[in-house]
Amino acid sequence: MTKGRIFSGMQPSGKFHLGNYMGALENWVKLQHEYECFFSIVDWHALTSSYEDTSKIPERIHEMALDWLSAGLDPEKNVIFVQSHVKEHAELHLLLSMMTPLSWLERVPTYKDKLQQLGIQGKDINTYGFLGYPELMTADIILYKADTIPVGEDQLPHLELSREIVRRFNNLYQPIFPEPKPSLSKSAILPGIDGRKMSKSYGNEIPFAASPDELRARIRLMITDPNRVKRTDLGNPDVCTVYTFHKIFNAEQSTEIAQSCRQATIGCVDCKKCLAEKMVNSLADIHVRRQELEKNPGRVKEILVFGGERARIVAAKTMDEVRQAMNLA
Ligand code: SF4
Repeated sequence: MTKGRIFSGMQPSGKFHLGNYMGALENWVKLQHEYECFFSIVDWHALTSSYEDTSKIPERIHEMALDWLSAGLDPEKNVIFVQSHVKEHAELHLLLSMMTPLSWLERVPTYKDKLQQLGIQGKDINTYGFLGYPELMTADIILYKADTIPVGEDQLPHLELSREIVRRFNNLYQPIFPEPKPSLSKSAILPGIDGRKMSKSYGNEIPFAASPDELRARIRLMITDPNRVKRTDLGNPDVCTVYTFHKIFNAEQSTEIAQSCRQATIGCVDCKKCLAEKMVNSLADIHVRRQELEKNPGRVKEILVFGGERARIVAAKTMDEVRQAMNLA
């Protein structure tokens, strides 16, 4: 007996890093044991903020599926699919866009900020697609009548808008949709190897697909306590990125490491080696699964086709109800 139904998606926007994994995917892997889950690679969403060059989309979808499957998402237990393979998302998005007041979309706090931010980067996203992003997100969720949505605190306003759109639909036509509730996920925030937020644009990321040797090489480059210049200098683990990682991947030894750092009984090279081996071990299963899947790209494709078929069965049933409710049948 599951607790309910979850929908969650990610845009295929390029190579995944370890921070992305800890921020969401690790939580999904846990949730799959408690909920009935629909996980979607939301390729149409990627177009809302980046529509000019679509050439890399197929490769990015494949990479994302590899990331999810190697992280441990079970394609039998969960419905894993690509959004654009299920055209009902577009139909429901269109119908919701007819009944949602423009002012609801314009007041989403992140809308104007992101418009400005991407404008500075030279991107013209003054488009309906970008403004209508929350409509598409709502369609994604309610097409599967998902009642629980794993979100970070920053996404709460989007979900609140989805709940308003659902209420409006249920009041105007027929009450066929549950109001989706947030399930707030608190996850460890991993800094990049230079101590700033982990981001590909800073070049400080640890790729999720890193091999054990690549992982060791990235850890060797991590910044440490800048005041610990010589091996004999007493260190301060609280300002050290390596130590932040120890607390997450080597929690059981972290107190001992902090003490050894403060007393200078451990050097930074050994401290990094110790962390690297802990991380290699804790990510070993993911690495093995990825190697297996990389040998068989056809299998990844099959999984997405299978997931699309399963998603379409549920989506088609919901759209029959929607058309009936709106006298469009
Ligand atoms: Fe950081 Fe470890 Fe060096 Fe201390 S010993 S500064 S925790 S890398």
